[in-house]
Amino acid sequence: MTELPGPGDLDEAADERPVLRALTRSRGVFVGVDVGGTKVLAGVVSSRGRVLRTARRSTPGRRVSPEIVEEAVVAAVREAAGDAPLRGVGVAAAGFVDGDGERVMFAPHLPWQGEDVRARFARRLRVPVVLDNDANCAAVAEWAYGAARGTESALMITLGTGIGGAILLNGRVMRGVNGMAGEFGHMQVVPDGRSCHCGGTGCWEEYCSGSALVRYARESFGQQPTMLEELCAGQPARLTGPMVTDAAEAGDLVARQAFAQVGGWLGVGVANLVAAVDPEAVVIGGGVVDAGERLLAPARLALTRSLVGAEHRLLPELRPAQLGPQAGLVGAAVLVRRLTIRRERPPTTLRPERRRPRARAARWAWR
Ligand SMILES: [Zn+2]
Repeated sequence: MTELPGPGDLDEAADERPVLRALTRSRGVFVGVDVGGTKVLAGVVSSRGRVLRTARRSTPGRRVSPEIVEEAVVAAVREAAGDAPLRGVGVAAAGFVDGDGERVMFAPHLPWQGEDVRARFARRLRVPVVLDNDANCAAVAEWAYGAARGTESALMITLGTGIGGAILLNGRVMRGVNGMAGEFGHMQVVPDGRSCHCGGTGCWEEYCSGSALVRYARESFGQQPTMLEELCAGQPARLTGPMVTDAAEAGDLVARQAFAQVGGWLGVGVANLVAAVDPEAVVIGGGVVDAGERLLAPARLALTRSLVGAEHRLLPELRPAQLGPQAGLVGAAVLVRRLTIRRERPPTTLRPERRRPRARAARWAWR
């Protein structure tokens, strides 16, 4: 098997031509593609998790036909691969993917509803295709190359507009019967609490997310002096997470309190998850984690206070994610690489597998 150049072989400033030659010489490239509500980002991912070349298309939102999104994905994948033969494609979709990894059941910002996404892309691209949701893919990437590397069990929690989550056990994502495991954001943490867009109340992501951070800061406007008012030019609606991070860094009390609130809720939710899963590490992703200890210190404190038997156990490490916004496409590429190489391996090296009836195998899905 010809391996692609790894991170040690290439650096950001290097001339792209040797990379392209290496890709073309290779048996083919694995491409990961992150399909989000506003953009499609495809990237060739090396065997060491390095994103070698990317291509991007915009996604026109929910009100278009699924074919338009499909075209955008196919075009981005082909552009990223360039002249190199395509060997497999991993699709990380911002939506609910069914337990078999075949369909996108629902995506709040994409026109896919029960769409047979995996098979459609496999037909169009004529290579193996793996489909999973973006949070699961990001967790796989962190396990393979990032903050969860070397662990046998980890949770991934991504704080953005809401909360993305995934459960990793032995390097596999626990996907659940419906493919919906890891939807931590909608655990109820406050009975009859704030209304959530999911229709529930008191959901964790209403108290612990990038959106909650901004809301906490905004709620203090007019009550305490804060540089945030100046940063958003007196328009609270224009306040963003990075502004709160910058202000906290500069010593602004309101911004620091907002982080302490999000951190506190993070610890409470993590304590519940740790009580259920007892993992080695909890990886925290999303822009909010740029604040580092300002977020993680209050989270650790709340975790210790809330977790059952905290004094008798090793607490899981809270680790900031390492791979940033490309984690989804990297993880999708890892999944398809793993599947393809497993399929290509000569039968003699395959471990004997017990055959199980398909219906039973699909009841609890892992990847
Ligand atoms: Zn909810």
